[in-house]
Amino acid sequence: MASPQRTLFETQPEPWEVDDQSIERVASVVLSAGPAEEFDYLVPEPLYEKLELGRRVRVPLGRSNRLVVGYCVRLEDRAVGPRRLKPVREVLDQRSLLSPAMLRLTRWIAEHYLCDWAAVLDAVVPAGVRGGAGTRMATLLSVDPEAAGRLGELKLSQRQVEIFKILAAAKEPLTPADLARLARCTTGPITALRRKGLIRARTARLALRRAEETVPVREKHLVLNADQEAALKTVLAALNSGRQQTILIHGVTGSGKTEVYMQAIREVLQFGRQAIVLVPEISLTPQTVERFRGRFGAVAVLHSHLSDAERHWHWQRIAEGTVSVVVGARSAVFAPTPHLGLMVLDEEHESSFKQETAPRYHARDVALARSVAEGIPLVLGSATPSLESWHRAQTGQYTLVSMPRRVLDRPLPRVGTIDLRSEKASGSLSGGAISRQMRVAIGEALGGGQVILLLNRRGFSTHIQCPACGHVLQCPHCDIALTHHRKEEIALCHYCDYEVPAPRACPKCEFAGIRYSGLGTQRLEAEVRARFPNVVCLRMDTDTMQAHGSHERALSAFRSGKVQILLGTQMIAKGLDFPNVTLVGVINADTALHLPDFRAAERTFHLVTQVAGRTGRGPKGGRVLVQTFSPEHPAIQAAVRHDYAAFAAGELPIRQMLRYPPFASMIRLVVRGSSEAVTSEFSKQVAQRIDAAVRAAPVDARVLGPAPCPFARLKGKYRFQIQLQSGDGDQLRAAVRQATGDLEPPENVQWIADVDPVEML
Ligand code: ADP
Ligand code: ZN
Repeated sequence: MASPQRTLFETQPEPWEVDDQSIERVASVVLSAGPAEEFDYLVPEPLYEKLELGRRVRVPLGRSNRLVVGYCVRLEDRAVGPRRLKPVREVLDQRSLLSPAMLRLTRWIAEHYLCDWAAVLDAVVPAGVRGGAGTRMATLLSVDPEAAGRLGELKLSQRQVEIFKILAAAKEPLTPADLARLARCTTGPITALRRKGLIRARTARLALRRAEETVPVREKHLVLNADQEAALKTVLAALNSGRQQTILIHGVTGSGKTEVYMQAIREVLQFGRQAIVLVPEISLTPQTVERFRGRFGAVAVLHSHLSDAERHWHWQRIAEGTVSVVVGARSAVFAPTPHLGLMVLDEEHESSFKQETAPRYHARDVALARSVAEGIPLVLGSATPSLESWHRAQTGQYTLVSMPRRVLDRPLPRVGTIDLRSEKASGSLSGGAISRQMRVAIGEALGGGQVILLLNRRGFSTHIQCPACGHVLQCPHCDIALTHHRKEEIALCHYCDYEVPAPRACPKCEFAGIRYSGLGTQRLEAEVRARFPNVVCLRMDTDTMQAHGSHERALSAFRSGKVQILLGTQMIAKGLDFPNVTLVGVINADTALHLPDFRAAERTFHLVTQVAGRTGRGPKGGRVLVQTFSPEHPAIQAAVRHDYAAFAAGELPIRQMLRYPPFASMIRLVVRGSSEAVTSEFSKQVAQRIDAAVRAAPVDARVLGPAPCPFARLKGKYRFQIQLQSGDGDQLRAAVRQATGDLEPPENVQWIADVDPVEML
């Protein structure tokens, strides 16, 4: 847990105001792997030039003076104190890895998300950058300028003179290998010249050469329609105001939001500043990237599949300002742009913007904090904004811009529901998942168009149950039913990947008629293939999309028309643009509706609306059919009518009544351990401490639990949760910090604090 830190930039007496002898330069250092406090070290004079804020240093720690690495987070000249400080041993970086503004941002993250400052620093500066990935030490040669003047007088062979002249003419220092290549010689004569002192050598760190990217075809900006003009005007006004402002663009899918972002970025670049565009990892397709590169040429693309060397290369170009547009997933919010002018976060409702490992930050909230710190506008865009952002727009904290129409007057698709209760009763499903009505619609759509089918469950059968004894095949490590995967004939745990051969008989009572029931994408695929044998169908889920690049290959096969039916999990619902899709079928809209999560209705609304947005993008129009057991549910009703405002108006009072976000802050503590009794006992202790801290503060807060998590056991660990809600997030954090400051969990028990949690299971 972070210790209370001092402000970074207290005013200090200028050095000349104090007698030299009594002044020392002190660096405050946050250690990469060590105690969570800051430590002060003396900066020896030879290091004055080399040490700046945001660089890493090697310092001695503890009695043994073992050398450890840390970040310099504060530098000051101050009167020599009574305590003798240990000196900084070495400065590791030749340039600052973090600007003062980024240092302040990382400290804010540590405080807001209740985690160690060092962990945040290590997350913000990529490992590839810290390790100098993709660079190497090299010898660089240049001519001795004095020798160049008297080349005629020197007794050199013809070969040596040639080499000397080539090196003298080179624009920059050359490595011995490069020089040998240019002069078509061996390194022998080069070494001879070095020995004679006519060529100088020094060692330096060199970036590996990277193949230049192909130059994209440049595209012109489009002529905006009236809604786009209005949205752009609002963003430009914010840019020109020179103040922070958050603009929420609520625009239906296909309303042209991305075009607005790009034209705002053009403006930013004209002022010589940089822009960061954050999109969910899954939307970071070559299509998206090409759109930005087509407009802006050099674009740094940051995603999780980059190698360390590639990441380092991009990071360097961003930091030097040679690339002005950054497009990336969650962690691109930390891109080291020195002249940031605008941040855009598209699909702002997406839960993947939250990191589920420490530091558990939400890129949307970090983007907001960064835009405030840098005094620049933040643009959030979505067809289905998070209720958090919507509420802030409603209460005037954000500026709301609406883009309710699709570009070129393309209509929004008609959405209809199919009531699975009556379909089941009438036998129209005939044992399958696709109702008669859906079947007819697919048949119609295939006469010239393409079809997308969404089912948010992988596998073939979602559970395996014995009809005789009721036994359900469960993962021995997780509190979760195993899913049948028919291709491999295995039963698989979707959490820990545990697998066993699919049983022929009940493992408990040995009854031979064990049943495979519940519907997954594999079974849906089999059903589609059986019903439409002459149609090419492709399944897209994490099982089929494991190979690198398979995602892109699948999408391009669909785009080209080689595939007529694309079916899969929510992977297919995101940000894709297929003009020829005329039918989207949601096989079961209820998969997320009944989860024990306060955002269940919101998730369902998002999913149906987003997948519906995949159709009707071309001139052929399109329709959506939603199969559901609860067609009257408000979330499904609102999605059917494309009515976000109605959904929000129905859902927000419920949130308010139950004191859920956006009306309160929430912290979820999860305790896990291998012994159920010990873990449970410890979680009770934690809850008691927090109760006491909340009472002593006093904070108006709700403390729920401890209770077993909805997934009470995962990967062999028992899990308990404590849920905290309060109108005052800062006070709630303070109470947790105070209650857990000296918390010592028993052996084999861990606990985490998840601030503003997204994952509730
Ligand atoms: P969104 O981001 O809201 O889903 P996009 O910006 O991707 O929408 O626009 C959807 C499609 O409409 C894209 O193919 C885009 O090129 C096109 N488009 C956007 N704005 C215009 C415009 N003003 N005129 C013509 N086509 C446009
Ligand atoms: Zn498992």
